[in-house]
Amino acid sequence: MIYLDNAATTKTSPAAQQAMLDCMEQFWGNPSSLHTPGQRAAEALAKAREEVASCIGASPREIYFTSGGSEADNQAILSAALLGKRKGKTHLISTAIEHHAVLHTLARLEKEGFSVTLLPVDESGVVKVSDVAAAIREDTALVSIMFANNEIGSVQPIQEIGALCREKKIPFHTDAVQAAGHLPIDVVKQNIDMLSLSGHKFHGPRGVGLLYVRKGLPLLNLIEGGAQERSKRAGTENLPAIAGMAVALKEACDHLEENARKEIVLRDRLIEGLSKIPHSALNGDRERRLPGNVNFCFEGIEGESLLLLLDDKGIAASSGSACTSGSLDPSHVLLAIGRPHEVAHGSLRLTLSEETTREEVDQTIQAVTEVVARLRAMSPVWDELQKGVRPYVIQ
Ligand SMILES: *Cc1c(COP(=O)(O)O)cnc(C)c1O
Repeated sequence: MIYLDNAATTKTSPAAQQAMLDCMEQFWGNPSSLHTPGQRAAEALAKAREEVASCIGASPREIYFTSGGSEADNQAILSAALLGKRKGKTHLISTAIEHHAVLHTLARLEKEGFSVTLLPVDESGVVKVSDVAAAIREDTALVSIMFANNEIGSVQPIQEIGALCREKKIPFHTDAVQAAGHLPIDVVKQNIDMLSLSGHKFHGPRGVGLLYVRKGLPLLNLIEGGAQERSKRAGTENLPAIAGMAVALKEACDHLEENARKEIVLRDRLIEGLSKIPHSALNGDRERRLPGNVNFCFEGIEGESLLLLLDDKGIAASSGSACTSGSLDPSHVLLAIGRPHEVAHGSLRLTLSEETTREEVDQTIQAVTEVVARLRAMSPVWDELQKGVRPYVIQ
């Protein structure tokens, strides 16, 4: 199988697996216990916390382990909203292309009386810093803008947005789930107040993530209970997963540039190959995108059928985000960059890892080219486009 769905999840690395096994064998104690097995577990937890903190330029006391990226996003947003409300601030700023963990949390707050501004993005999927500046109000409680998009890979001007928010004294959260381990992150240099990441997007285990919260910024907990994570996230720590994530993040950050360089070469080869398909269009910017992200629209076909036929040919791909595939709604991200509904349905996301090979990329180009041609041959829409009954949207 050629696995090109690394934005949905990655294969757990051997080192991460080993760290998890070691934890289960040696550090099975409860880190809150005072006896020796407990203290050994507490030490392993502290080591993992130091490791992940150093990977993003944070200090260990600024790290809160969670059950994943979704929980970290929920906590950052709900906490900032509820703390803001206490001071009469009930306005939240985000973008139209966020992950549903952010968008649905904001929608819930909107029902509770908060006002939400979802900023647009340009045709390459990037938000304008001047739009963020213009949206800021006296009563803005939070700006939450993703580091890099999970569907089209567009990378946002995080450092500039962070600087703006710092100047206006508004907490700034970024969902860095797709960026962590793939793009350089330095929370201090990039002016980030809160950041979410998730273990399974950089070859760590799933069901674990973290929220970074800058020292001095208050944080409310979502889960009531014990005093774990300095009382901000109750529940006995999932130490094997935390240790696996820490090892995976360290590995990814140690090889970040080398991996990115390798992936960019193959990504660009894939983009070039797929661009030769008539009436196809790359979604997102040619350059300003995640090293492993390729996303195309093909006119006249359905993304779902494309995926099934590619799976038959041994290629695991996606039509966009794992969370929306299976539903017939076109991607909110593709609509936000201006793709019309009928074209947004025919999208294909291929996400590489550092293990992807040139042979795999070449096989994929060939397979997608064949499958698109085959689907078009059966498509009544394509027939109409060919006959000029309706105009092409993608030239
Ligand atoms: C995968 C993903 C999430 C969710 O992370 P989980 O750990 O699966 O909950 C959130 N945001 C983005 C951008 C993602 O890609």
